[in-house]
Amino acid sequence: AAVAIASVSPATGEVLKTFDPMPEDRIDAALDRAMGGFDKVRHLSFKERGEWMRALADLLDDERDEIAALMTTEMGKTLAAAKAEVTKCAYACRFYAGRSAGFLADEPADPAAVGAHLAYAHYQPLGPVLAIMPWNFPLWQVMRFAAPALMAGNVGLLKHASNVPQTALRLEDLFKRAGFPEGAFQTLLIGSDAVERVLTDDRVRAATLTGSEAAGRSVAAIAGRALKKTVLELGGSDPFVVMPSADLDRAAQVAATSRCLNNGQSCISAKRFIVHADAYDAFAEAFVGRMSAMTLGDPMASDTDVGPLATEQGRTDVEEQVADAREKGARVLCGGERPDRPGWWYPPTVVAGITPEMRMWSEEVFGPVAGLYKVGSYDEAVAVANDTTFGLGANAWTTDPGEQEQFVADLESGQVFLNGMTTSYPELPFGGVKNSGYGRELSAHGIREFCNLKTVWVA
Ligand code: NDP
Repeated sequence: AAVAIASVSPATGEVLKTFDPMPEDRIDAALDRAMGGFDKVRHLSFKERGEWMRALADLLDDERDEIAALMTTEMGKTLAAAKAEVTKCAYACRFYAGRSAGFLADEPADPAAVGAHLAYAHYQPLGPVLAIMPWNFPLWQVMRFAAPALMAGNVGLLKHASNVPQTALRLEDLFKRAGFPEGAFQTLLIGSDAVERVLTDDRVRAATLTGSEAAGRSVAAIAGRALKKTVLELGGSDPFVVMPSADLDRAAQVAATSRCLNNGQSCISAKRFIVHADAYDAFAEAFVGRMSAMTLGDPMASDTDVGPLATEQGRTDVEEQVADAREKGARVLCGGERPDRPGWWYPPTVVAGITPEMRMWSEEVFGPVAGLYKVGSYDEAVAVANDTTFGLGANAWTTDPGEQEQFVADLESGQVFLNGMTTSYPELPFGGVKNSGYGRELSAHGIREFCNLKTVWVA
């Protein structure tokens, strides 16, 4: 069955605009245009591509407030967060406009060692890449793929989440107005049921997906049968470990900020707060204080910290996870009750005493709900932190240099942040291990994912 593509206000539940999925003839025409666009883009210099990328950054800056309001309307993040997201995208565009030539420069080898006169590795683009993206950072998730991919000479086909169609169309429009050739970046308004048809098409060379584990498994299976490269950035249930030497007030402040980031819907939000017994009471008090002090309200209002969840299903999932923990004996230290109003609201919540039988022990909670764990030692802290099928980010708080080194070595994750909030930077690689996916986005590593690294050997 076709999936409904619609903007629905998470703040009120009102259906704002619906869209018909693209019919087959328009999908086919878009794939032809992608091939045409690739033929142009691949032959251009980094300088030419960089000029469009900088023009795109300028458009993002100029239209920041309007784009931000659109995101807030469709998925409920606070307007302040949405504005910051647009600004971060403009920064990433400029970063790749300036750095891509260096990241993809030929890599010379010692010619004598391989019996050649000249030998080197040379990066070439792959072609049209399908990007299947989620609604939580509707601009950033797309741009962190598109900026490097297009700078490398690929072209993009965006299948955005079905609840952010207007942001998806706005993205296509921005790329066009920045000067990118026809077919360089297109939005396909399709449901997930049409992903197989696009991904198995010969004109599409690779795919990237950010989203749930289930979506990742499905796309990886299709891509596997078709032997196409994929990059997957799936969920996370990031640990946030607090040891006795940590600055507990600062840790509690960052803990609350991280857990409530994007209304609690970020893959790298800290989700499980694992605290050493010697620091537990002080941290718990400060953390619950910070969580209860968050203002839940209209995402457009400047004094709001936490807006509604993006979808009704998302709110149901979070409510059921908390109810399950409560039934099995966990204690809700704050929040835990949905406010009585239309829209998909859920308050900042802290749940203590999570045990392995509870869903919260092993599942990602995609809302402002923190699980609090008390542990007796470093070893127990690491064991709890790693007792998850996910491995995206990890946070640890300790001023002990020996412990810092141990955390870096022992935490099973794609990134570890010590004494500061886990976040993404264009300068650093981003991705996970275990069921959080594979491949890396951002930095030099991200731009190389969708390239053919061609070995050149000349006698
Ligand atoms: P999904 O993974 O379902 O959606 C992400 C993207 O994948 C959307 O574009 C979606 O399209 C598409 N998609 C979904 N299923 C398939 C499929 N079988 N084949 C191809 N494409 C597919 O996320 P949800 O919005 O449903 O959220 C569910 C959970 O996923 C969250 O509670 C959270 O745990 C996790 N999640 C994690 C994110 C992260 O940043 N790590 C981001 C979003 C979700 P469509 O919208 O049309 O279904």
